[in-house]
Parts: sequence; C-alpha cells; structure tokens
Amino acid sequence: MLESVRFRLTLWYTAVLALVLVVLSMAAYFVLRQSTLQGTDSSLTEIADAFLTTLQAELKDQSGPNALQLAAEQALFEHRYRDNLFVILDPRGNVVITSEDLPVPNQPAKSHAAGIFASGAFRKLAEASLHGDRFFQNVPGGPDGYRGFVRQFPVNGQGHILIVLQSLHRQAELLKEIARTFAWVIPIAVLLACAGGYFLARKSLAPVVDMATQAGRIGAENLHERLAVRNRKDELGHLALAFNSLLDRLNLSFERQRRFMADASHELRTPVAILRGEADVALSQPSRTLEEYRESLLLLRDEAERLTHIVEDLFTLARADAGQYPLTRSDFYLDELVADCTRNTRTLALAKRITLAVDAPAELPLHADEGLLRRMFLNLLDNAIKYTPEGGRVAVSCCRAGAEYAVSITDTGPGIPAELQPRIFERFFRADEARSRGEKDGGGAGLGLSISRWIAEAHQGRLELTRSDSSGSTFTAFLPAPAAGAPSPVR
Ligand code: ADP
Repeated sequence: MLESVRFRLTLWYTAVLALVLVVLSMAAYFVLRQSTLQGTDSSLTEIADAFLTTLQAELKDQSGPNALQLAAEQALFEHRYRDNLFVILDPRGNVVITSEDLPVPNQPAKSHAAGIFASGAFRKLAEASLHGDRFFQNVPGGPDGYRGFVRQFPVNGQGHILIVLQSLHRQAELLKEIARTFAWVIPIAVLLACAGGYFLARKSLAPVVDMATQAGRIGAENLHERLAVRNRKDELGHLALAFNSLLDRLNLSFERQRRFMADASHELRTPVAILRGEADVALSQPSRTLEEYRESLLLLRDEAERLTHIVEDLFTLARADAGQYPLTRSDFYLDELVADCTRNTRTLALAKRITLAVDAPAELPLHADEGLLRRMFLNLLDNAIKYTPEGGRVAVSCCRAGAEYAVSITDTGPGIPAELQPRIFERFFRADEARSRGEKDGGGAGLGLSISRWIAEAHQGRLELTRSDSSGSTFTAFLPAPAAGAPSPVR
C-alpha cells in the first residue's frame, strides 16, 4: 500500500493538514485563554474602581469608629455580584469586612469563601498588597479557582486594602467547551480531508496510470504509436510530449538502423554474388588452363579485397555509432601527414596521368589520432583521383586559419550536381551509381565520405564540400589547432 503514490500523497496531505489544524487550534485556544484572562483582569479593575467610588461616597455619610465597616457594608450591598467576593483589610492586614459577612447569602461563592480566605494563596495576595499598589493573582478554590485583584485605598489618610475575587468558572467552562469542540471537529475535518485527498490524488494520477498502460503496449513492432496528450500545457501533457518525442527519436534511430542493415546487406550481396559466380564458372569445367585459373583467382582476390573494405567501413561506422571508437591521440605535424598521404596516392594518380600538387608551407603541429586522419585524407584523395578524368589535376593545401587548420583537396573532376551535394555525406549514397561502382577504379560502397565526416567531427572539426561545379570540387577538412605557444612535437 505504501508503494502507491496515491496513498503516500494522501498520507502526507492528511498528516500536514492534521498538524496545521492542531497547531492552529492550539494557538486559537491559547490566544482565547489569554484574552479571557485579560478581560477578567480589566473587569476586576472596573469592579474594584466602582466599589471604591461607592465606598468613598458612603464614607462621607458615616462617622464614628465603625464608619468604614458601615460604609463598606453599604457598598457591598450595592456591588453584590454573583461571582465576586470582596475583602477589606486594614493597614495591618486585619480583615475589616468581607462580602461573606453580609446578611444575605452570597450564593454559590459563599460556600467556598471560608476555604479561600484561609488559603495560603489568598494570604500571599494580601501580603503582596503591602508591597505594591495593584496586584493580580490566581487563587485556588471553588470548581475552577478565582482570579484575585488587590489594591490599596486611603481612609482618613491610612492605606487600606481591597481584595476582589472573581470566579473563573465561566471562563473555564467556555475554554473547556472550545477544547471539546476542537476535539471532535479536527478528527472529522482530517477524515474528510483524507477522503477528499485520496479522491483527488486518484483523479489526478489516473492519466499517469493510463500513460503507463499505453507505454507498456508500445514495442519495437508498433514504435509508431504515441501516447494520447490530453492537455499540452499541464505537467502530465509535458510528460506525454517528452515521452512521445523520445519515441520519435527512437523510431528514427530504429529506422536508420534498419535502413543501414538493408543497405549493408545489399552492398555485401553484390561482391558475394560475384565471388560465387566466378568460383562457379571456374569450377564448371573439369579442366581449365592455368591462365584461366589465374584470371579467376585475381578476380576473386579483387572482389574479396572490395568486400574486406566494405566490411571494415561498416565495422568502423558501427563502432562509431556505438561510441566505442576511442581516439588514439599523438603529437605530429599535419603538413607532414598530408604530404605523406599525397605520396601514397601518387601511383594511383600516375596511372591516370593526374598531376598531384601539395602546398603545405608552414609547420602545423597537431595532437590527434594520426591513423584516423590518414584514413580521412586518403579517402578524400582517393575520391579526388577516382572522379578526376585522365590528365587532370589534384591539389592539396593545408594552412592555419585562425583557431583551426584547413586542409583542402581540389580536383578538376566533373563536380557533383547541386541537387545531390547535400546528400553526398549520407551513408551508401553514390552520386553516380554506375561510375562510382566501377570495378576497375575500386568503386566504394558510398561510405567513404560518411566515415571521413565522422573522423573530422570526432576531432571536434568538420568536413565540408566547399566548392563543386563543372570545373571540379573542393573538399575541406577543418580541424581545431592547438593554442599558440603549445609545445610542438619533435620532427
Ligand atoms: P564512394 O565510395 O562511392 O566514393 P563516398 O562516400 O566516398 O563513396 O562518396 C560518395 C559520393 O560522392 C560518390 O559516390 C561520388 O558520387 C561523390 N563524390 C565524392 N567525392 C567526389 C569528387 N571528388 N568528385 C566528384 N564526386 C565525388
């Protein structure tokens, strides 16, 4: 049950709400208690003031030794409140009169009065009045205790003491009632919130459950299916859109893989068919001349070589795609590498009477994978010679251009039609099937440029067809150059 998000959400929500309710009700309870106490205190002050005003007025009408007692009796009659007890003490602390002494019983308070006047708290209250003018203190007694107020007042120039006690029963009853109300209202509110929270969590998570079910149904065979997006603007809509875009990318990558496999098997089928056909022809007759066998074997070897190249290229691309082609970097001079590659293709160029020119004036130190860069330059040079007619020219130049090196290979071939130029870096793409597949010039499978571009990009560089028209083509590889001042390799 705890595994369910719905349940956990509800639990959290309920716990937080319960905590908030409890804290709020406790705060409300304490604020209320404080304000009733303050109310009691100010009512006590008012009662005392009113009583003393009456007492002073009565004193004016009285004379003789019992004047204070008589006046107090009169004042007590006038201020007989149900929940109040009055005590008047002389300057020495002796009781002059209490509301208990009145002939009319003072109702419920009266029954507790004797105990209260005898209590230690009451005596402390009386003593405190000797040190200060006004003083409040709780005094135990009765069902919920009393709030006591004491103050001094002058009679014939002598400080007497008035103590007024007010029962806290009504306030305590009110607070108890409030506490009782909180005690049943809070659990009910929490229960209702729990049910509502569960309902809401269920309702808002229902689309997620739907999405999970839909996503569970999507596999390699129906990768084109997508999750339904109810509201593109809310979080769940974003989730569904993100999932769908992931499926788009997966689908694209699956498609690419599928096409790659289909193209690769198509490319492999031709040389394999040639191998088989030639072997069948060679074996079809019981005896052939040595020359005929030699010719067949040469053809088989050429075809096997072509097959090896294709398989190697496919393997390189597969490893590159899987991100498993680590670069083995070393320090060398780019100009030397370019000159070396050009030298290696000289025989090919000579066979077609093509002039090969290299222009690498400066020293260009580089820290890169020499083997891979050699492969890229040989591919480009090979293409340049392959697609340039006899007697043409292939020029190689390399120089530093700002923060990068630019190596350009320019030929005087027929160029690549403008509409095909954007596609030449695609895998298995050949601008002119018949020509590039020619067996004599070792026609490739249309993978050379894709691999070359990957090599440039693996070095954080790029490979571009910078110019191609009827007078020829220029391919330029841009490679990041080391910062000025970096140590150069030893020549
Ligand atoms: P291929 O193995 O067929 O040469 P590439 O990937 O190296 O494959 O080249 C892709 C296609 O680009 C080639 O089939 C060819 O049509 C075109 N191409 C490449 N280099 C040149 C060039 N220097 N001149 C003209 N066309 C070229």
